[in-house]
Amino acid sequence: MEIRITDIISESFEWERPGIWNGMHFYGPGRMHKVTLFTNQGIQGIGWNGGTAAVRPHNFYAPFVEYYKSFLIGKNPLETEKLTLELGEKQNKILGSAGLHTQVLGAIIIACWDIKGKVEDQSIHTLLGGEQKRVRAYIAGGYYAKNKGIEELQQELLYNVNELNATAVKIKIGDPTAGISLDMKRVEAAREALGPHIDLLVDANCAFDLPTALEYAKEMENYKVYWFEEPLAIHDFKAHKILNESTSLTIAAGENYYTLADFETLIENKGASMLNVDATICPGYDVALSVAKLAQEKGIKIAPHGCQEIHLPLVAAVSNGELLEYYPPEVDELRKELFYPNLKLDSDGYVTVPDAPGIGFDLNMDLLNRYRVG
Ligand SMILES: [Mg+2]
Repeated sequence: MEIRITDIISESFEWERPGIWNGMHFYGPGRMHKVTLFTNQGIQGIGWNGGTAAVRPHNFYAPFVEYYKSFLIGKNPLETEKLTLELGEKQNKILGSAGLHTQVLGAIIIACWDIKGKVEDQSIHTLLGGEQKRVRAYIAGGYYAKNKGIEELQQELLYNVNELNATAVKIKIGDPTAGISLDMKRVEAAREALGPHIDLLVDANCAFDLPTALEYAKEMENYKVYWFEEPLAIHDFKAHKILNESTSLTIAAGENYYTLADFETLIENKGASMLNVDATICPGYDVALSVAKLAQEKGIKIAPHGCQEIHLPLVAAVSNGELLEYYPPEVDELRKELFYPNLKLDSDGYVTVPDAPGIGFDLNMDLLNRYRVG
């Protein structure tokens, strides 16, 4: 009996947390959108999106799940590439090429891969290539916040290194009220606190035009910055090319690319040498793996964005998987109990890939059900 999808359900959750201010955007409560796929063989698969960029209007997600449902019922969930095409590219005329609906599609394709893993009794990590058993992680953070000065920023980074075992940490720049002088004080203070041996990553969340990005890059070259992430508007490929040619810094981009074509164009323009592909955006593991392979051909690395439980299987699957982005419970308290197993950095700053079939992580539904909003 060939495996077939029999049903799909959509669930949304929302909870309070301090909120995240990255300069360009403020993200309030934590949110997650989950899809569950059911099959005629009793095997279920889950996928989710959301996480830090929780400002996304998640009440839009359920209608898209309903829309996709009619295409999914009776289909083989193992044919993920075909489903990505049929529910993605082939819906362009109807839904548009990318957006909230393809975020939902990302979660659906991830759920299909979860089923694939369970059917084959393999982890998604293994199915995607399984090249690395452990990868180094960096701690996402260094956000702006009220009453958070230079000293508090330094304390946070030292906490990440000393208590969370990080050998790489990230800070934000690009708040319009900060300007280059305050931002460079942040970068300088971060480097000073970390000493010479911890990697410092800097993220602008698309805040700059080209002249400003060039100015920042020139300044940051003095502080051994590991990468300069999302300096520019995502589709200004020409500006990426000029910036990347002009600086010795590694330019990172890609967390907001919704199509393989975006990555291809960025790569053709030699606009970045680190790709922050996001399987919940691009959408799904098939496209993400294509991005990783394309990058590999060009000598470029990937360091996926957000949703660490979804991206650990991906980044560790390929030999050009460089770093895992890791959100600590300090950013979102619920993270302490949200997933099984609870992912933590080992003493050397690396994380180990779980080898359970499928994604390898389960959601704590007893906890999440308390925060159900849809
Ligand atoms: Mg980013």
